[in-house]
Amino acid sequence: MDREQILNLYAWAPGVCFRHPQLGEVPTTVVGVIHPRIDGEHEVRACADCVIAIEDMRREEAARSGSEYEPGRLGEVLR
Ligand SMILES: [Zn+2]
Repeated sequence: MDREQILNLYAWAPGVCFRHPQLGEVPTTVVGVIHPRIDGEHEVRACADCVIAIEDMRREEAARSGSEYEPGRLGEVLR
């Protein structure tokens, strides 16, 4: 799977990347939801570069542990 195919698995909307807040609003997708004790629910959004970086990490992890790698599931895994 190439970069475009992986990115097409996600729904994109303007937002602030959790690793690149200095970029301001960029196309982002939800990669997780955190639940701060006071604040209810907070979405963790990531830009395209970060989604690719996280997917790469997951693919390597899967290869190491011998499990199956399935791209496009970052938001689900962290929920
Ligand atoms: Zn980013």
